[in-house]
Amino acid sequence: MPRSIDFRIDFLTPVSVIPGLGTTRTAALSESGIFTLGDLLYHFPRRYIDRSKITPLSECHNQIGSVVNVIGEITRTRVERGRRPRFRIQLSDATGTMEALWFAGIPYFRNVLSVGQRVLCTGTVSYHTRVQMVHPQTERLAENAQVPDVLFLPVYPLSLAMENAGIGQKLLRKSIDWALRNIQHFPQLLPHAIEEKRGFPPLDKCISALHRPADPRRLDAFNARLVYEELYKLALTLRWSRRKFALPGRSMEPGALPQKIERLLPFTLSDGQKKAVAVLHADAAGDRRMHRLLQGDVGSGKTVVAFFACLPALNQGMQVAWLVPTEILARQAFTTLSRWLDQLDIRHDLLTGRSAPADRAAIAKGLSGGGLRFLVGTHALLQPWVKFRKLGMIVIDEQHKFGAQQRLLLAEKDAAADLLVMSATPIPQTLAKTLYGDLDVVSLQSLPAGRMPVSTHLVPENKRGDMERFVLKEIQTNGGQVFHVVPRIERDDGPDEDQNLKDVQTVYDSLKKGAFSEIEMALVHGQTDPDERQEIMKKFAAGKIKALVATTIIEVGIDIPAATILIVENAERFGLSQLHQLRGRVGRSPKKSYCFLLADAAEGTPAHKRLSYFCAHHNGFDIAEMDLSMRGPGEVAGFRQSGWENLRMADILRDARLFNEIQNDLDELFLKTASLPGR
Ligand code: ADP
Ligand code: MG
Repeated sequence: MPRSIDFRIDFLTPVSVIPGLGTTRTAALSESGIFTLGDLLYHFPRRYIDRSKITPLSECHNQIGSVVNVIGEITRTRVERGRRPRFRIQLSDATGTMEALWFAGIPYFRNVLSVGQRVLCTGTVSYHTRVQMVHPQTERLAENAQVPDVLFLPVYPLSLAMENAGIGQKLLRKSIDWALRNIQHFPQLLPHAIEEKRGFPPLDKCISALHRPADPRRLDAFNARLVYEELYKLALTLRWSRRKFALPGRSMEPGALPQKIERLLPFTLSDGQKKAVAVLHADAAGDRRMHRLLQGDVGSGKTVVAFFACLPALNQGMQVAWLVPTEILARQAFTTLSRWLDQLDIRHDLLTGRSAPADRAAIAKGLSGGGLRFLVGTHALLQPWVKFRKLGMIVIDEQHKFGAQQRLLLAEKDAAADLLVMSATPIPQTLAKTLYGDLDVVSLQSLPAGRMPVSTHLVPENKRGDMERFVLKEIQTNGGQVFHVVPRIERDDGPDEDQNLKDVQTVYDSLKKGAFSEIEMALVHGQTDPDERQEIMKKFAAGKIKALVATTIIEVGIDIPAATILIVENAERFGLSQLHQLRGRVGRSPKKSYCFLLADAAEGTPAHKRLSYFCAHHNGFDIAEMDLSMRGPGEVAGFRQSGWENLRMADILRDARLFNEIQNDLDELFLKTASLPGR
């Protein structure tokens, strides 16, 4: 008798089961790291639009400049042609009328909005000959509805790939709703003992609460479980990886290669760099697997040291994999490394998420044949088809940007390959033990000779003009180049209460019209087309572009020694460690460099205290300790600042104490069962 197959929808079910997601959209989601329903459910909202309070239309004139919700019937619609075409509607309720208008998407809105409909509009009230809302977020309501179905509307982060495939907020909301309704089984990762001990709500409750909150101000209990669970997973993975690297490795010698490379360098290695290289070569020569962290402050010259660490494997005819977190960094690393690899006549290639199928095929062939010896790339390296014939060495740069599981994935491509991870993100001592306890550590203690500390200043808004004049002079008379960092990409597609937060386009436009009107400028952010982005970075590196307005996309690793000025908008929004990373983009040459922090931080406030400390300190460890000591329960929820991007819910600095507690929870558990690895 045939048995019936029970088709269960769970976290591992591919997103393609969701009605309305065809192949294009499914592909766009996978490009954004969302493959399964579980991935989708962990794509949490960035914020919520509060629609719990409805303002009568007659009261809107008292609310100019604020974001409000109104409900009304559409009593007129009109398309106006002319220099700036617009679509205008009139809304009426029992108390009065108001206008809403759109300058973009006219055909669409004209199609979906018509007289007689009842709609909810959320937006900023403005006044231009009369009270109005421009581009409000709009939803049609049932005939007699007094409130919308969803009081707190989630706003999700959208990647460029999603936008290109036509995945917007509406579709994401619908898809997530579908997943929440249809998943029959949520994974039970946490032991019941821990759930009980900590009083956590069940996982399904936590996840739906974040997507569809009854009250976004009351999410703490739900957040707490998700944060715990994420760190718990991290702790487990770290324990497993400790086991993996207790395996035997290969004994490899660098031969004459180091001398060859030294002759090519435009500088001589510092004593610190030489010492680190000696340690790494001793690791390679030993018969254990190298499993080491190369730690060194931003700009300390880790890249060249890591390349020296690859020489034993190369000399032995083996292959090297070099992993970096972003496409920009992959190209930068590839350019740097190519100069050396060309001289050694070693075939190398670059693999990113955007490599063409033909290139991928060539890479696959080169790797399996063994002729391709050095592969630089992004997360794309982790894919299962990337198989090496004889992988001798793995380098992971900016390793804090990768999840522990991702590191393990790469390490497993060869059971005996050596592993070197690099990081400039200084981790306070207490945390280093738990996070890096499995790694041997070698540190670069000092910066290359001749570097000066970056002169750092807190700039209040009323001094912005002075700062801009100074910067302009540096550019025009001193060959200076500027990174101008802005915390966020764009005004997103929903009304935002957070009016003070600068967005990158606005800043760019106002500089272009104002202080930097005579300067070659460019704008890059996460959604800039990657080819264009690369072109811009090239021009900036060549000095053709003088001022680069950017999001934190330039946060780590970017190496453009000619850049000497860093300006950070809304500096109070950044964690100190993140600011330190950003500041590391300048001060990379013997020229004097500057960092200006534009901040809303009145004297006496904690923000002022933090930033003043930052201005006076230059050592990454001091800054990390300060960062840690100033964090706590007062932290804005969901605003992660330490740059450990592989974590979605937790912030390793903010949650450092919890992470250590979890280690104890685990010890307690495993003491009882004795079935899993200890620390
Ligand atoms: P990080 O440690 O932040 O990754 P990089 O490896 O990018 O730093 O090096 C920063 C800059 O310092 C690069 O431009 C590099 O060429 C340069 N550099 C590295 N070592 C030395 C040295 N010994 N003397 C002078 N410049 C160096
Ligand atoms: Mg680096």
